[in-house]
Amino acid sequence: MSQHKYILDEASIPTHWYNIEADLPERTPPPLDYTTGKPMEAAKLETIFAKTLLEQEMSAERYIEIPEPVREIMCQYRPSPLYRALRLEKELGTPAKIYYKFEGVSPSGSHKTNSAIAQAFENKRCGTKKVTTETGAGQWGTALSHACNIFGLECVVYMVRCSFDQKPYRKAIMEIFGGKTIPSPSPFTEAGRAILAKDPDCRGSLGIAISEAVEDAVKDPQTKYCLGSVLNHVLLHQSIIGLEALKQLEMANDYPDIIIGACGGGSNFAGIAFPFIGEMLRGGKKVDVLGVEPAACPSLTKGKYAYDFGDVARQTPLIKMYTLGSSFIPPAVHAGGLRYHGMAPQISNVARQGLMRARTVQQLDVFRDAIQFARAEGITPAPESSHAISAAMDEARRCRETGESKTILFNLSGHGHLDMTAYLEYFAGNLSNYEYPENEIAMALSCLPVCE
Ligand SMILES: *Cc1c(COP(=O)(O)O)cnc(C)c1O
Repeated sequence: MSQHKYILDEASIPTHWYNIEADLPERTPPPLDYTTGKPMEAAKLETIFAKTLLEQEMSAERYIEIPEPVREIMCQYRPSPLYRALRLEKELGTPAKIYYKFEGVSPSGSHKTNSAIAQAFENKRCGTKKVTTETGAGQWGTALSHACNIFGLECVVYMVRCSFDQKPYRKAIMEIFGGKTIPSPSPFTEAGRAILAKDPDCRGSLGIAISEAVEDAVKDPQTKYCLGSVLNHVLLHQSIIGLEALKQLEMANDYPDIIIGACGGGSNFAGIAFPFIGEMLRGGKKVDVLGVEPAACPSLTKGKYAYDFGDVARQTPLIKMYTLGSSFIPPAVHAGGLRYHGMAPQISNVARQGLMRARTVQQLDVFRDAIQFARAEGITPAPESSHAISAAMDEARRCRETGESKTILFNLSGHGHLDMTAYLEYFAGNLSNYEYPENEIAMALSCLPVCE
């Protein structure tokens, strides 16, 4: 084996997911029903989600077994490799050690497949015929289309309009895998029509696409909705990333001082970080955990910890999270997967309890560092993942100044092979930084639902 690639064999794919809920000093607040202000009734949630996924959602068991068919399918691309970024370290002249877990090896090119397979499997098991979902940059739609095809489910994907236009090849991949793509806002749902009536040129947002997908699912008992991030069960499925990284770093005889992930809804960040936070909560080594978000959509760093809707049309249950307000439509940064107004409740809870920190990065720095990374390591990263790369490189540059030899671990959540428009625009000088949209966020926060 080469000196800087740590691979496990198939037999080493974890048999259980890790659920941080078992170790958190304070439980994560449950979703509330807006109409009653009380915790959401299971029966109501079952009109939207598969029953067995809801069981995972509510669970406080530390380890939950991964169903054998799900493990079998994941064998195609897992365990994913852990690399040491030796060439990048050298180029940065840093005494820090940089490791990254590469999730771009999956059929969708991102970590999203880890949850898509589990969600398609549970839906099949519960008798679902069709699933609906939203997608931002297109990775989740691709992952779910692929997973639904394997289990024989129909898949309808509402894709945020600005990504739909920026990334035509995403639609092609979803079609190859048998998914149907609809640009959102669309004229096919009440939520979509209401937005289009106000703004016919609306570029869309994850919040709007979620409204449309949920509305589509609620109309038909054999149709369920799937969410690609934010919820506890999605974070649970992604824990496989950190569980593998724990074993791989053990092979490398190392342990991270800092763990870094890009935060959209939070699933890949939680995936790499939660198993290590769990170790820490059970008396293990202390780690500095850093979530990175775009300056244009800073839910963890500038949001309010409050109950809010997960979507624009206010159809979802209320969830307690760091939020910029569900009516906030983030600027069209080229990291579509990070354009979400809220943050996963479990991550919000972890941040609230001081178990992690967060920072923002600007778009131009992200692309500059992504290109330096690609030239050193030979992997072209997704713009979302590049937020983690940029922050990791900042930490390594800081170590160069201080002389500290920290061990840095970050998650490279996906490859950027379908994000070429963004790279071309960067090279053409057409990208700019976005100022923090202070007024829009203040306005959206003033409309938070009143409860408690
Ligand atoms: C979707 C996506 C993200 C952001 O979503 P999280 O749920 O925060 O992980 C980050 N990177 C890639 C490659 C993605 O596809």
